[in-house]
Amino acid sequence: MGSLNIENVKKAFGPVEVLKGINLEVTDGEFVVFVGPSGCGKSTLLRVIAGLEDSTSGRVVIDGEDVSATPPAKRGIAMVFQTYALYPHLTVRNNMGLGLKQAGTPAAEIGRRIGIASSMLSLEPYLERRPAELSGGQRQRVAIGRAVVREPKLFLFDEPLSNLDAALRVNTRLEIAQLHRRLKATMIYVTHDQVEAMTLADKIVVLNAGRIEQIGGPMELYNSPANDFVAGFIGSPK
Ligand code: ADP
Ligand code: MG
Repeated sequence: MGSLNIENVKKAFGPVEVLKGINLEVTDGEFVVFVGPSGCGKSTLLRVIAGLEDSTSGRVVIDGEDVSATPPAKRGIAMVFQTYALYPHLTVRNNMGLGLKQAGTPAAEIGRRIGIASSMLSLEPYLERRPAELSGGQRQRVAIGRAVVREPKLFLFDEPLSNLDAALRVNTRLEIAQLHRRLKATMIYVTHDQVEAMTLADKIVVLNAGRIEQIGGPMELYNSPANDFVAGFIGSPK
């Protein structure tokens, strides 16, 4: 299970309203991509969904339950960041397992989940290494693996490929698509890359200055952008 409803979510930082009333339905297992220019509120919206930031008003509902007041660790969400956010002093294995250990998961179960995730992400040869001994692509796979072992209802990715070079971006993108097919989990993915959005998304959400301009399937947005703004991001040239 992993359905998400965002109901009229607003977020202000001081006098500045960054999210101006976001409404969105995500069904269980859907792959939803947020696109939009830098500063339009993509990361803020992910952080509100994850509970890392409180909304000013509105509700976040996961599987029918209002989680607006639920702490991040209890929401069943795992987030993957552009900067990986790995612990430099821990091995790959312990980076992946730390969150589970802190949550009191038995060691055997932690080992089982790390085994599955590291196999899915081709990380088995690197389990005893530290992040400094890995390439950028491998580090991001560890960060994804750390999310996978938590078996979340909802994965949130915030521009996970932005720090990788072009070839690695393609590879890692394909791995994320494969992960989605295997896990059948709900995924929300932020990018400003049109190719990533078109190839990964079941549904694309185009954001502009804290509002949603259009929601639709990749071909729908490509062929019938609602306005010039959407056309500039996704649509075919007019
Ligand atoms: P995006 O991810 O689409 O680039 P963000 O969600 O990071 O955009 O930011 C949206 C706006 O909110 C920006 O103008 C940014 O400066 C502002 N903002 C984000 N976080 C904070 C914060 N903690 N305090 C004040 N302003 C913030
Ligand atoms: Mg951002």
